[in-house]
Amino acid sequence: MENKVKAIGVLTSGGDAPGMNPAVRAVTRAALYKGIRVFGIRKGYKGLIERDAVELNVRSVSDIIHRGGTVLYTDRCLEFKEEPGIQKGIAFCKELGIEGLVVIGGDGSFRGARDLSIRGIPCVGIPGTIDNDINSTEYTLGFDTSMNTVVEMVDRIRDTCQSHDRCSVVVVMGNGAGDIALCTGIACGATAVIIPEKPYDIQKDVIDRIIEVRKTGKQHFIIMVAEGIVEKKDREEKIYRFAQDLSHEIESKTGVVTRATILGHVQRGGSPTVRDRVVASQMGYHAVELLSKGIGNRVVVMKDGRITDFDILEALNMPKTFDEELYNIANTISL
Ligand code: ADP
Repeated sequence: MENKVKAIGVLTSGGDAPGMNPAVRAVTRAALYKGIRVFGIRKGYKGLIERDAVELNVRSVSDIIHRGGTVLYTDRCLEFKEEPGIQKGIAFCKELGIEGLVVIGGDGSFRGARDLSIRGIPCVGIPGTIDNDINSTEYTLGFDTSMNTVVEMVDRIRDTCQSHDRCSVVVVMGNGAGDIALCTGIACGATAVIIPEKPYDIQKDVIDRIIEVRKTGKQHFIIMVAEGIVEKKDREEKIYRFAQDLSHEIESKTGVVTRATILGHVQRGGSPTVRDRVVASQMGYHAVELLSKGIGNRVVVMKDGRITDFDILEALNMPKTFDEELYNIANTISL
């Protein structure tokens, strides 16, 4: 059957995440397999406005499946939030003959994808962010790689904590979501996990817990903190202060020498894990299936462990869900 669509574009937008490259590769190869031409748009929506694109062939996406970051570059483009910017983007798509666009990014990027879709350029979003903070999907590309980096780093911190009978306060990323902190907290055996989804009481949830656990013989402690517990404005400064204050409080109230580590951008890089490569390939393939049929205004998601898609607006309006059981597990077994 002949494809309705002759050419599509692909771009990465917002924060970068490991898994974006395998997704670009999958989109490109799946489209070429169907005889659809593919254009890589550089620097997200900025590339649409600044007319920065390159046609991709099978070999253009060789040797990128194992690379973190994004070979297409990414950016935040304020101009694209306004009508004249969107119209410039549409004009460039028409010039290239692009009849569909894959947008790899977060909710902000999906808003832009919706703006294009309702103006006649069908777009399909793929969730790409280490934070796992997109409500419509159980999984976002980069989440697994990022968590593996955190676990590797905390294992090193644990070695020195154990040698010196110390406590470490570790701050991890996650934007507004506590997913990275909660999962890595379990994986690292953190004594306490502080996340934005749950109210916390430093005395009861951290200090008393350390004192109680110490009675059982434990001498070193990891306290996992999600950056999202402080507001987004001036977050870096605020979370630094929070981690320092918490460390001082733990040390003064328990007598355990305590140091704070803010892991920072190491969490955003690195070679994508198997999970990120496989899910990126599934999602990229699924996005092309939709666009090749002329279907747009969709976000590819993972639901109940399977790849499917939702209407963009519906996806953007989905409420956040929280895994209470996982939180209870963290509090029950990390002693
Ligand atoms: P993320 O996609 O990771 O959530 P941002 O929120 O920074 O990241 O959005 C990335 C880009 O998507 C923005 O720089 C802008 O170009 C585009 N975008 C964001 N919000 C909108 C919007 N409301 N309308 C149109 N485009 C948007």
